[in-house]
Amino acid sequence: DRQVRQTMEALDAKGIDVLRVAYPDLMGSDRSRDILLHHLPHAAGHGLAFSRAVYHTGALGDHSDIAGGLESGMPDIVVRPDLDTVVPLPWEPNVAWCIGDVQDPATGRSVPESPRDLLRQVLTRLNDAGLTALVGPELEYVLLEPDADAPTGWRRYAPAPGNVYTTGRRADPDGHLLRTARALHALGLDVSGGNREFDGGQFEINLNHSEALDAADRAFRFKAAVKELARVEGRLATFMAKPFNDGGGSGFHLHVSLVDADGTNVLDAPHDSHGLSATARHALAGVLSHAPALSALLNPTVNSYKRFGPDTTAPWLINWGLDNRNAMVRIPPERGAASRLEVRLGDATANPYLAIAGLLAAIHLGITTATEPPAPATGRAADTHAAAKLPGDLGQALDSLQADDQLTDMLGKSFVDAFLTFKRDELARFHQHVTDWEFREYAQIN
Ligand code: GLU
Ligand code: MG
Ligand code: MG
Repeated sequence: DRQVRQTMEALDAKGIDVLRVAYPDLMGSDRSRDILLHHLPHAAGHGLAFSRAVYHTGALGDHSDIAGGLESGMPDIVVRPDLDTVVPLPWEPNVAWCIGDVQDPATGRSVPESPRDLLRQVLTRLNDAGLTALVGPELEYVLLEPDADAPTGWRRYAPAPGNVYTTGRRADPDGHLLRTARALHALGLDVSGGNREFDGGQFEINLNHSEALDAADRAFRFKAAVKELARVEGRLATFMAKPFNDGGGSGFHLHVSLVDADGTNVLDAPHDSHGLSATARHALAGVLSHAPALSALLNPTVNSYKRFGPDTTAPWLINWGLDNRNAMVRIPPERGAASRLEVRLGDATANPYLAIAGLLAAIHLGITTATEPPAPATGRAADTHAAAKLPGDLGQALDSLQADDQLTDMLGKSFVDAFLTFKRDELARFHQHVTDWEFREYAQIN
């Protein structure tokens, strides 16, 4: 059709002869195929075939009980390029990159494991309530270099002691952050800036806010692009929640505001308590009351739960505070058009689509049930009597998601079942595995 023809002409005029079509799998990893540009009409019409049940970068595990798993012979899904998302790759000559939508080849309809469609579904529910969500993602990561002597094969880049917000060669000897921020901006990710985080070799790059689907697309591409750019440098950018015992975790903070059809921020109410509207209170309460289930989506790995803790700037209690970075939800000090929640729960391993879909579903539930939040936490926000704790491990989080009927209803039972199946398989593999800690702890006793 016309859009296919126009895309081909535009890419051809730039000397681009390859299109990389990437879709987010259930875990948020980018899965892609490179197609020669002349194949685009076919790919756009029929979609590109991928095996449906391949979701994990580590191991396939035994997903025999999931639709599309081993039992059924791992049949196809098809991925249809979304031509509105085509961008030339700044670091790979003559290659453009686009996001694809996952569909069932038999019906042409979306499948429960399509994170992008899941987010669209939740956004439709919000739109029906007259609301549009704006999301500003913040992602942190740790940059590693090969080290044959390290047990993992990797050591931290620029581990020199120093402080958060140190810029320049002291924190970044060969200019990785500048190079990366510029490349991401050239890719159209609307980067606002970046800085060294609390740890040596840990960086944060901020994306401006935009409508939720676009924000999720940009966060998805951000992670894929940062990993790819690091690889070009011979390095590994890890988004692992807590890669080292002697360092902090990497967060995926989400700034969320809601606007009405006129674009007016509905969280803002200058004359109400803390300048926050009833909608803001209900949205906040929705996030708090569904937090145990949300952590399955926002903290989806075995490792995620090692990031939580008091005095870490990562949360551990289910609480909120006014401009308080110790709380799970911070209300930044700006009001008016900038009134927003900063949800600090998520870590950088989260699938951006699932994290944002889950969060907005919880916000929608809080608003429709007019739930009220508790009083804000102050200071170190460590009053264990007042607030419940976040799940202590992945198993508890998965149980909480399974038990949360309201959230499951919003996200769809087939999605939740698929997610739980893969994650329970991951957890079972972890529980079977003997770790270094066990050897150190137990090898010489008894
Ligand atoms: N690295 C912290 C986390 O795991 C966040 C630090 C910050 O406030 O930027 O969430
Ligand atoms: Mg940060
Ligand atoms: Mg933040």
